[in-house]
Amino acid sequence: MTAWWQTAKTTSLAGVAPLVGLERRGRSWGPCVACGASKRSRRDRRPPVSIRRDGVLWYCWCCRAGGSVLDLVSYRLTGRSWSPGADGVRDWFDSRGVLPSLPSPPPRTLERPPRSELDALWGSSSRSAKNWPPPIRRFLEQRDDIDQHGLSMWDPEALERIGVVRCLPDPRCHRWPSWWPRHWASVWRLAVRCYEVDGRAATIHARAVRPVSTGRTRWPGGYDAARVFMAGPTGRAFLRGENVPMSAGIWVLEGLTDLVAASLVVHHQEIPAVLLGGAAGSFRALSSVRWPAEVLRGDVPVIARTDDDDTGDEYARQICRAVQPLGIRVLRAPWETNHG
Ligand SMILES: [Zn+2]
Repeated sequence: MTAWWQTAKTTSLAGVAPLVGLERRGRSWGPCVACGASKRSRRDRRPPVSIRRDGVLWYCWCCRAGGSVLDLVSYRLTGRSWSPGADGVRDWFDSRGVLPSLPSPPPRTLERPPRSELDALWGSSSRSAKNWPPPIRRFLEQRDDIDQHGLSMWDPEALERIGVVRCLPDPRCHRWPSWWPRHWASVWRLAVRCYEVDGRAATIHARAVRPVSTGRTRWPGGYDAARVFMAGPTGRAFLRGENVPMSAGIWVLEGLTDLVAASLVVHHQEIPAVLLGGAAGSFRALSSVRWPAEVLRGDVPVIARTDDDDTGDEYARQICRAVQPLGIRVLRAPWETNHG
């Protein structure tokens, strides 16, 4: 015979969470039934509770409470995790009648911010670098990424022409999206668009232009940032399967500033290369890119330009593992230094 709690455990957490007072924002839920927190920290304002993708387990990033749907209800009713004697939990489930069941099979698509809000934010961002605020100018002036090429990263005309990076708008002059906390706006302000492997717009990444202790790059709060590539117009066209000049290779770069630096070099030296910027969670998706025949034949190389450190080495390995089964050879071209 199936015990009542075994049946209850097949109930969808996402279906039960609203019934015990949790609200959803992106992939996060709050407030926590155990500690009552409504955000993860002062810096990270996402609600604290995550529900695993298969909908079976939850976890609070503040108090580390977590468990099954039974624990969720038990914390709400008794303040403790579930045990067979927990008061009221069985009655709670009995009184609800039929509850939503776990989805089967579990959903596989990644969640991105609403496209219209994403487009609105990007559309209100400034491409005109000469009008960017002083902190961005100083940030780019102080970087030495491309000194070896005799170029500067503060090159307003080239930045505007390339169009890979923009300055996010002042939140006071824009209908600000809920997924980009206002207090990020003055620090994480240098933004690039990110695309799915087929070139559809997915999300944005933004780089801090002042020193921060954690998270130099941020993406929309509560949404997935895996399996996307940062790219300018040419990179996006490549992902969409369009014909673009690529005889100098498909360059896979680590991080936002490397993408911007490489874009400037490619622009000034008129190099026929495709540039894709990745972050943790991106590189494996290279296996799903629609690689053109030139690349599959080996006429055009894929070049992993990741940092010369342990993380960069691991990313280079991920790039190799993603494309080598397709017969694609990967060359490694590390930057001379790790410049962060
Ligand atoms: Zn909690």
